[in-house]
Amino acid sequence: MSNHQMSNHGRRPETIAAQLLHTTDAATGAVVPPIHLSTTFARNENYENLIPSDYQRGGNPTLWHAEETLAALEKGAACLLYPSGMAAIFQLVETLPMGGHVVAPTNMYYAARLWLQKLEAKGRISLSLTDHDIASAIVPGKTQLVWIETPSNPMWDVTDIAAVAKAAHNAGAILGVDATTTAAVTTQPLTLGADYVFHSVTKYLNGHSDVLGGALICARRDQRWDELLLLRNKTSAPLAPFECWLLLRGLRTLFVRYRGASNNAMAIARHFASHPKLHSVIYPGLASHPQHDIAKRQMTDGYGGMMSLMLKTDYAGARKFCSNLKVLLPATSLGGTESLAEHRKTVEGSSSPVPDNLVRLSIGIENLNDLISDIEQALAQIPAAI
Ligand code: PLP
Repeated sequence: MSNHQMSNHGRRPETIAAQLLHTTDAATGAVVPPIHLSTTFARNENYENLIPSDYQRGGNPTLWHAEETLAALEKGAACLLYPSGMAAIFQLVETLPMGGHVVAPTNMYYAARLWLQKLEAKGRISLSLTDHDIASAIVPGKTQLVWIETPSNPMWDVTDIAAVAKAAHNAGAILGVDATTTAAVTTQPLTLGADYVFHSVTKYLNGHSDVLGGALICARRDQRWDELLLLRNKTSAPLAPFECWLLLRGLRTLFVRYRGASNNAMAIARHFASHPKLHSVIYPGLASHPQHDIAKRQMTDGYGGMMSLMLKTDYAGARKFCSNLKVLLPATSLGGTESLAEHRKTVEGSSSPVPDNLVRLSIGIENLNDLISDIEQALAQIPAAI
């Protein structure tokens, strides 16, 4: 087997990512890992498998390489990759007993919130969504899973992971953190006490808007982890080999991409913070952000590329702003090299609590001045304040 000289030897995260755990192909010396596309693996003369899998649903070397790299970056015990972020989140939810109590914030990735609500309506889980202090919604002896997202879509609330971990553990619950927007670069939730960290690897980790995938990384392997392994093997699938290979390719540049996006976003947030066509810019790196102090402490390597503009206009004006843009692309998703702008109310629908005038930006790594002048010209074209 090719890439099992993997070890991080205490190396720093940038080195782990750039060298993908310092791996070379044992057969050829290639510094780029091969892709193992085979769905099945032949046994040797003793009728034994050469690797700990005989079939792709049980795993393959390309998958394990990506999983081991992500586990090392998040300082976790192990990682499981899934064909989408949503699949990963709901495999974790599937480990809860019937009626298990879940606490989550109202302001979170809307599709996951809607699916939690569907599961509650069917009696599969009981659910407390809260707008305020998440710890106050945790019920000792009852809550099984506390789920947070920080910074959270699309209002970019920042939650104190260590404080919520303590509250969850005191109540006998586990804490799962959607860390998609901090991308294993600027916050490591497991080191702050979380039990599971989740990523939509579709976003920064792959970083090129060409892979759909999700990851769960655990603080320790326990009975729940064994169940997750079994669940994936029997009822779902790991991320497919080509997607794992693209993810590995993207991970090599994770740190430079994330820092580039963070630097651009910080400059854009400062530039537009008091623009006459905006009520505000919501960005955790601005001193005006309500949880800036937590962000300063918890986001140790930049504030990321995500922000929201609160335009002094209405639903139609905010949509018009998105279509006025010529450099930023009017598309959903986040974390790619290219900057995206999105009118969230259009995407989330009329029942969503997202304000009509909110436009979410995923800032990429283009030239900063191109981005600033594009946002300027798009703002100039929307009608004067209403
Ligand atoms: N969590 C966050 C914060 C997201 O932004 C997304 C997708 O947009 C998801 C979870 C779901 O991930 P996926 O789209 O890979 O299923």
